[in-house]
Amino acid sequence: MLNNHRSDIITIDGPAAAGKSTIGEAVAERLGYRYLDTGAMYRAVTWIALERGINIRDEAAVTALAGEIKIDITAPTNDDGRQYTVLVDDEDVTWALRRPEVDADVSAVSAYPGVRTAMVAQQRRIAGGGEAVVVGRDIGTVVLPDADLKIYLDASAEERSRRRYEERRDRDEDADYAAILRDMRRRDRLDSSRVMAPLRPADDATIVDTDGLSATEAIDAVMEMVCRGAN
Ligand code: C5P
Repeated sequence: MLNNHRSDIITIDGPAAAGKSTIGEAVAERLGYRYLDTGAMYRAVTWIALERGINIRDEAAVTALAGEIKIDITAPTNDDGRQYTVLVDDEDVTWALRRPEVDADVSAVSAYPGVRTAMVAQQRRIAGGGEAVVVGRDIGTVVLPDADLKIYLDASAEERSRRRYEERRDRDEDADYAAILRDMRRRDRLDSSRVMAPLRPADDATIVDTDGLSATEAIDAVMEMVCRGAN
């Protein structure tokens, strides 16, 4: 049972495939809160840059693009297994965001300070109404430091790669475990070492290690914290 201490804004940060989206979506659904996956916004900038032939190393061009495009994240508009729909200037880019070429370039794009400034402003606006579960890398540290409840989900690179591998196999896509693990380690390194808003737990975050936990166990653990009004 929820009590009066129920948290209004819940942040979930952590590395790729730590379970943030599965757990974030389930917790949002149980609470009747909105679910915002901020990684989708960095992925959208990356995908549009690739689609328009912009050189990803051209910081000025990518930053200008991030300031120009309008990204909307809405409830799913299609019953094809998506968690939400991502529109960029009204074009549905939801599935394109999961392509390997986006995985390969998104950490470089998200390290550009101007891109982050543009995205953080949009994230704060969207979360402004409260009753939201916001998922990303820097939500508890930078985007919403006053959030009521901050969770940092973690798991080993091997476990996270295995999950990504199975997700891709389930969608009948090509999947190479060794390549996924290599990319995972590379992204961890880039996300943790960038100067602006590096991946790290907020001082007041509760760390949940999901190695060896089923999705249901991890969701229950987070729900218990929500109901206790923990941090
Ligand atoms: O969570 P997801 O894997 O979709 O995020 C894609 C990338 O976006 C991350 O590897 C990271 O570089 C970047 N990101 C970020 N800050 C966030 C969310 C994602 O830098 N709040």
